[in-house]
Amino acid sequence: MEHKDIKYFEDYELKKHTTFKIGGCARKVWFPKTEKEFAYLLSTLDNPVVLGGCSNVLISSAGIDRDVILTTGLRNFSIDGFTITADCGVKAPMLSIQAQKNGLSGFEFMIGFPGTVGGIIRMNASAHSQAVSDTCINAKVFDMKTKSVLELSKNELEFKYRSSILGKKNYILLSAKFELTPDDKEKIQALMDRNKEFRRNKQPNLTLPNAGSTFKNPPGDSAGRLLELAGAKTISHGAAKVWSGHANFVINTGNATSKDISHVINKMYNMVKEKYTIELEPEVKFIGIKDREEEELWNTILKK
Ligand SMILES: Cc1cc2nc3c(=O)[nH]c(=O)nc-3n(C[C@H](O)[C@H](O)[C@H](O)COP(=O)(O)OP(=O)(O)OC[C@H]3O[C@@H](n4cnc5c(N)ncnc54)[C@H](O)[C@@H]3O)c2cc1C
Repeated sequence: MEHKDIKYFEDYELKKHTTFKIGGCARKVWFPKTEKEFAYLLSTLDNPVVLGGCSNVLISSAGIDRDVILTTGLRNFSIDGFTITADCGVKAPMLSIQAQKNGLSGFEFMIGFPGTVGGIIRMNASAHSQAVSDTCINAKVFDMKTKSVLELSKNELEFKYRSSILGKKNYILLSAKFELTPDDKEKIQALMDRNKEFRRNKQPNLTLPNAGSTFKNPPGDSAGRLLELAGAKTISHGAAKVWSGHANFVINTGNATSKDISHVINKMYNMVKEKYTIELEPEVKFIGIKDREEEELWNTILKK
């Protein structure tokens, strides 16, 4: 195999893929269609950025000076009895719908957010009292250090709140296997509908571009509650602002840049720190080139 056999674009703007609708160009963006192509890119490119649904990232408006691999062409999945095996690029809501059709419970929470299997395992996504770690039984990953493929058990995935071994060790998810629980299809559908309804009232939909929760919940508390009480709903910068419906969401109201969003996140962080001496930890990840101003904003947020 050679690089020229795999689809890619040069100087490709990422904003059309991110849920924030923000992001400059990467020097090359690759679109593998098979696991073989993906593994070839991972073993030959110099430290590429791997992205799925781009729903938990703030990509720099100045771009990324590395190659990017977008996994959304890796879409195979199979259902065998109570188990589902899915490639890293499979969309979470689609899996939720397929599980319901097959009378399998455990994915109802994934109906409302635009992540892929790679992103949800990396982040141990959760909502409505369900988490990815409840159903994932093993995963196939690519170790960027040794350039080899590993099979990891659930224990070896080291799932914690919004994290897994993938971030710690620079492992890239190729595919994952889940074990679900058989249940009544109508009951599963009712739970999915309830989850969608909850989101309609409590979260901005993607017509107001956003990247989900900005900060993780601190132990025993809710980031949204602290931000609300600290007065974060008044914060804005350029075309970026805190959503009026929930203080832990930042929205792009038009042509916001990554710097606008970074200013807003920095102000949110400082407001809670000043009022409660609690240092919130960001859930959204900044990726790409930072100028000095953006570097300083993120150094504060990341306590560097
Ligand atoms: C409207 C909205 C609602 C949301 N609601 C929730 C919610 O209820 N619960 C929740 O947990 N999250 C929620 N999110 C956040 C987000 O959807 C999840 O974190 C999701 O898991 C991210 O998946 P992704 O494919 O978009 O990841 P990306 O944003 O593409 O990437 C996120 C991180 O994962 C890494 N990554 C991506 N693919 C791979 C891979 N194959 N291998 C290794 N690393 C990889 C990236 O490098 C990056 O560090 C919400 C987001 C939005 C926009």
